[in-house]
Amino acid sequence: MGFKVIVESTDIKFSASHFLKQPLQCTRLHGHNYYVSVEVSDSLDEDHFVVDFTDLKEKIMSIVKPMDHYILIPTKSDELKIREEKDSIEVIASNKRYVFPREDVFFLPLAATTSELLAKYIHDKLKEIYRNKKILVRVGESKSTMAVYFK
Ligand SMILES: [Zn+2]
Repeated sequence: MGFKVIVESTDIKFSASHFLKQPLQCTRLHGHNYYVSVEVSDSLDEDHFVVDFTDLKEKIMSIVKPMDHYILIPTKSDELKIREEKDSIEVIASNKRYVFPREDVFFLPLAATTSELLAKYIHDKLKEIYRNKKILVRVGESKSTMAVYFK
């Protein structure tokens, strides 16, 4: 038996653009309004909390807001060739070549920017803060689709 807190709010979101290896329409640069919710499970601390809600929400925001209104580029992708020039980032994805302003790009240490891996990225960042707690992260990219990572 244990306790769980859930932080879910329409203001925990970020808008970003990305592209994926497949399906075809996702290979084109496109964007999402990503919604994030988090569940944290543990026993209670001496103040009878799992975690402080406000604190948890602030931590989530500090992870997702740096991605807001950026182009997400996965640096561990096998399919992409990424080259940094002075003020720009060149990305070659199979037969396409993109050049983005450096300041518009947010690099993620991921193999792809799927919602699944974005959920894991947010999870792992939270886990650095809440080390001994069980954390579940949902990343929704539309009203009907979301990915979950938990550990
Ligand atoms: Zn997408």
